[in-house]
Amino acid sequence: MPEKKHSKVLIIGSGPAGYTAAVYASRAMLEPILVQGIQPGGQLTITTEVENWPGDTEVQGPDLMVRMEAHARAVGTEIIGDHINSIDLSNRPFTAEGDSGTIYTADAVILATGAQAKWLGLPSEEKFKGFGVSACATCDGFFYRGQEVVVIGGGNTAVEEALFLTNFASKVTLVHRRDSLRAEKILQHRLFKNPKVEILWDHAVDEVVGAESPLGVEGVKVRHVKTGSVTEVPCKGFFVAIGHAPASELVKDQLETHMGGYVVTKPDSTATSIPGVFAAGDLTDHIYRQAVTSAGMGCMAALEAEKFLAEIEEAAEPEPAAEPAE
Ligand code: FAD
Ligand code: NAP
Repeated sequence: MPEKKHSKVLIIGSGPAGYTAAVYASRAMLEPILVQGIQPGGQLTITTEVENWPGDTEVQGPDLMVRMEAHARAVGTEIIGDHINSIDLSNRPFTAEGDSGTIYTADAVILATGAQAKWLGLPSEEKFKGFGVSACATCDGFFYRGQEVVVIGGGNTAVEEALFLTNFASKVTLVHRRDSLRAEKILQHRLFKNPKVEILWDHAVDEVVGAESPLGVEGVKVRHVKTGSVTEVPCKGFFVAIGHAPASELVKDQLETHMGGYVVTKPDSTATSIPGVFAAGDLTDHIYRQAVTSAGMGCMAALEAEKFLAEIEEAAEPEPAAEPAE
């Protein structure tokens, strides 16, 4: 028999949104269960310095997430290392199943499954994944000491990855499809003045090339998007940093989504199209996608779940008996 676990609030995801929801829901005495997923701590565990988390001029992403987890535990959240592989939102209590086989039921659900890295979709990218192609400089940068690497993308992630890689690589080439970056100005400034960085403006990557035995990257074929001219940039590592897509696979057929899969929430609220189901963080936010905004939405979701549960409890209470007529 699979193990069954019931909670008033089930929180799915352990990024800033999930842990903040857990802190608020625990302090509201809702005794939440939080299921961490395959990336405990979420996206910030694959970065280094975080410099815009209020209260910390600089904090390491993984350290911040360890502190958030400890905070959620300290106030009473039950944190479970499991991954939800299916969820049924058609009836209350809602039912979810974990990879462990555990069946979770809950009166309210807070979805905080965040986002995942996007890939270019090239067959050669797929072939060399794990053999020179990566979406995480923090995880893999160390392997490229004294070697040349290429990063593709023009947002905050690409610029941060490129800067981080200058700690190891002899040269970092940033390939971007336009002639200006969308990254924050302060990051751009650091990038432009770093002598190890070269920027290839107006270029796309067409193919990753490399050796067969042992399998390994040796370069990327890049194309000038205006002239069409193709050149090869030698490198041992190729880092894809072209953004993130919301992790809404679990619920996309049950909840309203938009803008490529982001879960739709009501204005000024984390309420989704199903009463009792709330969504917070990068799963729903196609605009800001920051740790602090995710945490803020986690707080909102817990407060809204608390109100929802109080309302259904009140509705379920029997009507007081009518006074007998004199
Ligand atoms: P995430 O952090 O994406 O966490 C999602 C969680 O959901 C994970 O724990 C995952 O395991 C879990 N999950 C997913 N699917 C399931 C499932 N089926 N079952 C159970 N669990 C599941 N923001 C900043 O403000 N400052 C920065 O300096 C900064 N740096 C960044 C650097 C990098 C490299 C990246 C990629 C992002 C950075 N961001 C930064 C953005 C920030 O990390 C995100 O905005 C934030 O982490 C989103 O939080 P979240 O809680 O919504 O989701
Ligand atoms: P992003 O801001 O969406 O940027 C993605 C970049 O990749 C863009 O420059 C885009 O080009 C490019 N791109 C997209 N698809 C491409 C393709 N198929 N081929 C080539 N290039 C492609 O994503 P992100 O940088 O991962 O950031 C995601 C969110 O996390 C943002 O909200 C960001 O602010 C946040 N974040 C914050 C920090 C921080 O605060 N320090 C750090 C990291 C991330 P165009 O510019 O032409 O669209």
